[in-house]
Amino acid sequence: MDIDYTIIYSDRKTLNISVERDRSIIVRAPRNTSKEKIEEIVEKKKLWLFEKIHHLQKYPLQKHQKEFVSGETLLYLGRNYKLHVIDKSIPEVVFDHGFYISRDNQSEAHKLFKNWYLAKAKEKVNEYIKGFATDLGVRYNQVLISDLKYRWGSCTPKNNLNFNWRLIKAPVFVIKYIIAHELVHLIEPNHTAKFWNIVSIQVPNYKKAKDWLKAHGDLLEVDF
Ligand SMILES: [Zn+2]
Repeated sequence: MDIDYTIIYSDRKTLNISVERDRSIIVRAPRNTSKEKIEEIVEKKKLWLFEKIHHLQKYPLQKHQKEFVSGETLLYLGRNYKLHVIDKSIPEVVFDHGFYISRDNQSEAHKLFKNWYLAKAKEKVNEYIKGFATDLGVRYNQVLISDLKYRWGSCTPKNNLNFNWRLIKAPVFVIKYIIAHELVHLIEPNHTAKFWNIVSIQVPNYKKAKDWLKAHGDLLEVDF
């Protein structure tokens, strides 16, 4: 996945990357540095950047941990749905215009929801990935839905694709973008103009999806 950042050119001699308090990334670069060179350096610093952003998010995020009580809302496909904890004994997680769990299962709700979201994420990724792969004329090996750290998706040199199960919290148009993004990397590994050109053909509103992800980056950091 790509990282959004702002470049500030000046007469300085060396390049510097910093994460501001508002979690935005600023690259300060000498005037004649090419966009590709900057992209390359940012890519190399990715893990460091994510860790830095994660650190800044730690404190506010802890306040939003779910308790899985009635009335709480859970995000699913870009919409918030109310949770109902009911006395009746029902299967683990039931979704019907809202979420239902049995009071008997409340103590393990986090695990149950994680399993449910994981299964739904798998379903959605499988629903869209074949169509995109056919359109792009790419072949992939394995698709894994897992607990990726700080990323929505990734691809390996062996053409295996990984997706973060948390993507199921995002609207469908964003999920499609995340899938297409990783598949396009099988053609073009870097975020070049060519890369974005191919993405834009597959997902014409990809900029809207990028904006959504930028505004909701904290969804990566929490389970629910
Ligand atoms: Zn990418």
